[in-house]
Amino acid sequence: MCFGRKAYWGSLELHIHPDASAVVRALSPDEPVILNRPQAAARAARFFVEKFPGKSLYAVKANPSPDLLAALWDAGVTHYDVASIAEVRLVRAALPEATLCFMHPVKPAGAIAEAYAVHGVRTFSLDSQEELEKIVKATNGAEDLSLCVRLRVSSEYSELSLAAKFGIDLADAAPLLQATRQVADCLGICFHVGSQAMTPFAYVQALERVRAAIVDAAVTVDIVDVGGGFPSIYPGMEPPPLEDYFGAIHRAAESLPVSYSSELWCEPGRALCAEYNSLVVKVERRRGKELYINDGAYGALFDAAHVGWRFPVKLLRDGAAEDLDGFSFFGPTCDDMDFMEGPFEIPADVKAGDYLEIGMLGAYGAAMRTAFNGFGQGAVVEVSDEPMASQYRGDRRDPRVSDNVVSLR
Ligand SMILES: *Cc1c(COP(=O)(O)O)cnc(C)c1O
Repeated sequence: MCFGRKAYWGSLELHIHPDASAVVRALSPDEPVILNRPQAAARAARFFVEKFPGKSLYAVKANPSPDLLAALWDAGVTHYDVASIAEVRLVRAALPEATLCFMHPVKPAGAIAEAYAVHGVRTFSLDSQEELEKIVKATNGAEDLSLCVRLRVSSEYSELSLAAKFGIDLADAAPLLQATRQVADCLGICFHVGSQAMTPFAYVQALERVRAAIVDAAVTVDIVDVGGGFPSIYPGMEPPPLEDYFGAIHRAAESLPVSYSSELWCEPGRALCAEYNSLVVKVERRRGKELYINDGAYGALFDAAHVGWRFPVKLLRDGAAEDLDGFSFFGPTCDDMDFMEGPFEIPADVKAGDYLEIGMLGAYGAAMRTAFNGFGQGAVVEVSDEPMASQYRGDRRDPRVSDNVVSLR
């Protein structure tokens, strides 16, 4: 169905390994190895497709791997939130039939024109009068546009803020909504509560702001798009079940003054792909509680370095010590900033030559690798075991306990 899958098989070793330990036994890799779990991504996709009370757009920037795109498409995700012309081209090549929505509120005119004329994009977001004019001009006054006005909302319940850069303030929204209504076939309102939103209330509060914007502007709204921010599970961050988010969003959206045929959308990035990847790294040296490993801030561990994100870690060796200790990581480059403080909980006797599996790196991890200092060229393999934590397995402990419940199996 998707030729993207075939086109990219070349980069992926065809053999499916049972788990990370088997990968280490088979390859004894000196370079970091990315592990793909397409079955975990497909399970997340089916969950959103079946349970979100509206349409789910995958936010491609979280992980643009064509193999992942194919897995999501096969699991029923038909709409994709793209943020650059490169992402438009990439998704169009991988998934010729997908619906693409260009949801970056500040776009080059050329990107809008190409997206509209060449790639069939009809949905765009904006947060200013200038962008509205740019879209109208770049599409030659097209009359088949769905235009979503991005509203600024609070990021106070999220681990990573997206409040500063985009979104029009509620106080200024009415004229923009009215002007957009004039030229749009479908008018939408969208927002982003910030990534890894730790409570459904973040969306309820944002939807209250949507209500105020609609009432102020007195316009008919056809699309309410609650954006991304749906959380995944990391050490020390155990969010409520996603059903709670969907229920709260459904109730809040039902009571909005929107047209009877209006649509509810969401744009999950992290929640659809966090479980898709883990990473096998080698310990090159141990210095006290610091491990020198062969991936880091310029590899898949950007968030671990720059925002102190903690990831679950497993030591891939039989007979490791029972007791765990907290370790920090140094990456492979010569740069002091290539440091991940953690603490990462690892058996206390970890030593040089050991391999580690670092979990939950599918979102903003595997996609962030650079070739800085000559690193970042490692292999990609597929494994069939469970991710280290899952929102979708149906066997979670009381999810409201917010301590470190990501166990080392
Ligand atoms: C990044 C982004 C998303 C995805 O956010 P997650 O927190 O990964 O779910 C969705 N929509 C827009 C507009 C974004 O910029």
